[in-house]
Amino acid sequence: MSWETVIGLEIHVQLSTKSKLFSGGSTEFGAESNTHVDLIDMGLPGVLPVANKEAFYKAIRFGLATGANINQTSSFDRKNYFYPDLPKGYQITQMTQPIVEKGSIKIAVDDYEKEINITRAHLDEDAGKSIHDMFEGETGVDLNRAGTPLLEIVSEPEISNAKEAVAYFKAIRQLVTFLDICDGNMAQGSMRCDANVSVRKIGEEKLGTRTETKNVNSFRFVEKAIQYEIERQIHEIESGNEITQETRLYDPEKNETRSMRSKEEAHDYRYFPCPDLLNIELERGGVDKIRDDLPELPDQKKLKFINDFNITPYDAEVIIAEQVTAEFFEAIATNTDGKIAANLLINELFGRLNKDNLSFKENPITVKQMRELIDLIKLDKISSKGSKEIFDHIWKSGGNPAELVNELGLEQVQDTGLIEKIVDAEGHVGFDVTPNVVPTMRYLLPPKPIITAENAVSY
Ligand code: ADP
Repeated sequence: MSWETVIGLEIHVQLSTKSKLFSGGSTEFGAESNTHVDLIDMGLPGVLPVANKEAFYKAIRFGLATGANINQTSSFDRKNYFYPDLPKGYQITQMTQPIVEKGSIKIAVDDYEKEINITRAHLDEDAGKSIHDMFEGETGVDLNRAGTPLLEIVSEPEISNAKEAVAYFKAIRQLVTFLDICDGNMAQGSMRCDANVSVRKIGEEKLGTRTETKNVNSFRFVEKAIQYEIERQIHEIESGNEITQETRLYDPEKNETRSMRSKEEAHDYRYFPCPDLLNIELERGGVDKIRDDLPELPDQKKLKFINDFNITPYDAEVIIAEQVTAEFFEAIATNTDGKIAANLLINELFGRLNKDNLSFKENPITVKQMRELIDLIKLDKISSKGSKEIFDHIWKSGGNPAELVNELGLEQVQDTGLIEKIVDAEGHVGFDVTPNVVPTMRYLLPPKPIITAENAVSY
């Protein structure tokens, strides 16, 4: 029997505002537990929330970049549920009138592209964290995260397999970092994803019963969790069982999803309009101002890199995967040499970061060092082997590439008269002459070549 998969993702993006969605509490990550907590975040009675304008600005930027409708009026509702890490007993969210509706984003998978529609993107507040492994037999609660603004981006059920889901998640991450509305730090939980998955027989119109796997926070886990869930559902149905609509959790250690609870329906949450907050009315012309302020988006950047820096579409794609890498590339390639810059960035710098398991923000090499290195390669002052040696040196111990050429004795012989003398003396150019000559001269073999000034410099 042939099955097809239907997936809809809900991606929670932590907006990078300084303060929380409804209080002046700081959103800084990693502070000592319960030190960034305002009265509102503790859920004390008698204090009123005030909406954070910056969070709206950031949500609207996202809406505009995905061609969505920005609702002139939006509002907040209370979603009631009880967890120790949500002391108010309800989450303030946008259920009936979200700020952003009906956008779309393009994804690229292997050899095809696809447009995924975004149903809505609404603002809500994050909960705190329950900590189960700190106190014997007790659970600790850290409210630092409570009230941090989230943009919840809900896709239409149009994603057809795990690979497309990862491509969609990556495209959203790329966009929010380009828009500078989220730091994109998956390890710190700045982006999390709930994956809704169902299967149906090919050709069937009606959607199958879905499960929702909660809080998956890496691309690899999204792919694995969805793949597991697809196989599990098909196996269940083919064994004559029914799929239960439920919330599941992914366990990366066992690579399986497990049932957490039966899925709540909207009425379980007793949504009602939040009486503490007025509707949000956008000022006239406000959205246009935000539109004028939009930065270059990934697709525009890609085209610009291909045209202005003469690099391949593939290299451009790799470089624009993150806003920080795109920015770094632009800084090192402008007025130097795009191709050399792309090659150094992708093969040396990304390679090294990968090998040492570092994020780009931990990159120890500066724009100035890269520009110097590119110039040395461009002017043929060093060989490709020499450039690798300098790169290795500045990666490990810093330094100035222009000076390192001399210190490490890597200057390439460009004096054709000298080369001719060496050839005359040695009778051939080979590995025994001088290591610095080898990489550019090896094409001049076989032995006893006739070297003229022209052909020597042209290689
Ligand atoms: P709820 O608010 O009850 O979680 P929504 O209708 O808002 O449900 O949908 C939430 C997410 O689930 C959306 O991303 C949507 O595309 C997806 N979804 C809805 N139905 C299905 C289904 N049958 N299979 C897969 N995904 C689905």
